[in-house]
Amino acid sequence: MQGDFERHIQRMVELGAEAFPARLPADIDDADGLIIPGGESTTIGKLITQYGVDDAILRAHQAGKPIYGTCAGMIVLAKEISVGSEEKGGQRKLGLLDIRVARNAFGRQVDSFETMIDIPAITGNDGPPIHAVFIRAPIVESAGPAVNVLGRHAGNIVCVRQGTILGSSFHPELTTDDRVHRYFLSMIAER
Ligand code: GLN
Repeated sequence: MQGDFERHIQRMVELGAEAFPARLPADIDDADGLIIPGGESTTIGKLITQYGVDDAILRAHQAGKPIYGTCAGMIVLAKEISVGSEEKGGQRKLGLLDIRVARNAFGRQVDSFETMIDIPAITGNDGPPIHAVFIRAPIVESAGPAVNVLGRHAGNIVCVRQGTILGSSFHPELTTDDRVHRYFLSMIAER
């Protein structure tokens, strides 16, 4: 609906998956999994509510379909947003991922940066770290007991998994490192 969905689609197609943009509830009903891209979480929240895509996402989750939220997408999936949702009435959250996130949490001077993150669950113990691009990225301030912390940057949680839900503060679709998308595809294959 909004944000960096084209790169995700391109990456999934490169990896041999059939991928398409999800704009309407029926698109999500037809899919085996869903990526909610980075972008602007307040806008994504408004649009998914307006088009009934929020309910389709909840249905998909109920059906056990894996969902991956990158950056703004992870914010939309979160149970709690501690900073940056002070607008009237707050912003739409799906509450599927038991985390508290702070938006734009790496500071305004450092709008974006790239770094390498150790994520053994994805790379294996011997694999090189994941190339990660952060753009006005959120930090996961706390995570509930059902959440596995997969990766951290400077001590801050930036990659999580809770059952069939994967979340990252960073954008793997902006690099040539395809391992996070491969991992998400394997979650879909498992189902
Ligand atoms: N700052 C955005 C938000 O709070 C997220 C940025 C991104 O997705 N790259 O929604």
